[in-house]
Amino acid sequence: ASCRQDKEKAVNVQVLLRCRPISDDELRSNAPQVLTCNDLQREVAVRQTIAGKQIDRVFTFDKVFGPSAIQKDLYDQAIIPIVNEVLEGFNCTIFAYGQTGTGKTYTMEGECKRAKSAPNGQLPPNAGVIPRAVKQIFDTLESQNAEYSVKVTFLELYNEEITDLLAPEELSKVTLDEKQKKSLPLMEDGKGGVLVRGLEEEIVTSAGEIFTLLERGSTKRRTAETLLNKQSSRSHSLFSITIHIKEATPEGEELIKCGKLNLVDLAGSENISRSGAREGRAREAGEINKSLLTLGRVITALVEHLGHIPYRDSKLTRLLRDSLGGRTKTCIIATVSPSVHCLEETLSTLDYAHRAK
Ligand code: ADP
Ligand code: MG
Repeated sequence: ASCRQDKEKAVNVQVLLRCRPISDDELRSNAPQVLTCNDLQREVAVRQTIAGKQIDRVFTFDKVFGPSAIQKDLYDQAIIPIVNEVLEGFNCTIFAYGQTGTGKTYTMEGECKRAKSAPNGQLPPNAGVIPRAVKQIFDTLESQNAEYSVKVTFLELYNEEITDLLAPEELSKVTLDEKQKKSLPLMEDGKGGVLVRGLEEEIVTSAGEIFTLLERGSTKRRTAETLLNKQSSRSHSLFSITIHIKEATPEGEELIKCGKLNLVDLAGSENISRSGAREGRAREAGEINKSLLTLGRVITALVEHLGHIPYRDSKLTRLLRDSLGGRTKTCIIATVSPSVHCLEETLSTLDYAHRAK
């Protein structure tokens, strides 16, 4: 975007828009499509009928992926450079933001179940950002002649409570009494960062192992939803990959590069966009998602160069503090549906995402 041509004030926040194809249900209900994507112009037009007149509102993003864009298009065009940064020793964060049902999980995880069985390390075409990033990371590390280690954590944030999606405990036992549910404390680590006490950190040595972990974590997330009556649309998941690479300088000194990639599947944006005028009531009803709301404020503060960044106001932003702002890269993938049924939420997603630019 043009504002970023000003290098002095460069903020590394990239905002992409992805519009999923019309669904079978939407097709059956004959719902008109109100969104038109122009991927090359990086524009999306929304058709609204106001007082009998049709008006198009046009939004521009850093990149636009219309309904015909496949997983590989999005990854190759937008994510590869971010993962390269991580391999160079920086922290980066990729968010999927949007209304429930618009493709956040499809974009981040995709259908990676079959990744394990796919022949010669190839990914299935539906694999999302996480499995592709994992593959890129291991392909790069394995081709280099350096010592490295890769660690993974996978957690869920629901009602400001942290659950470990990799912890091996048996869910059925945990769910007998909801109070027994393992909620992990977030603490200051004394070095300016935070740590989640008791969070499982898995050391992995190949891409295949991470696919198994991802699958285990998502299964646990889905099971917990059903058993604990969680509304999946209200939870965030955070998959983090930390890489350490040992390198020798030309002078023969040892250098450790450490980079972290955070991949966040956010709660449905409808959890905050209804807030506006009704914020008071929505808050009472517990509809407001504190982490989602605070994330918006943190990103606004970062792009507008405000002095105070309210990281401390939510668990999600505390967790991501070392990976948002400064010399880090942030990518927001805003997901929308083309259908008229989603128009109101689509407009608020576009507004939210556009403000982050
Ligand atoms: P969310 O996580 O935002 O609630 P999902 O990722 O579960 O939404 O997507 C809802 C449905 O739409 C799923 O059945 C998913 O497979 C499908 N879907 C989403 N995005 C796409 C896409 N770009 N191409 C094909 N199918 C998609
Ligand atoms: Mg989802």
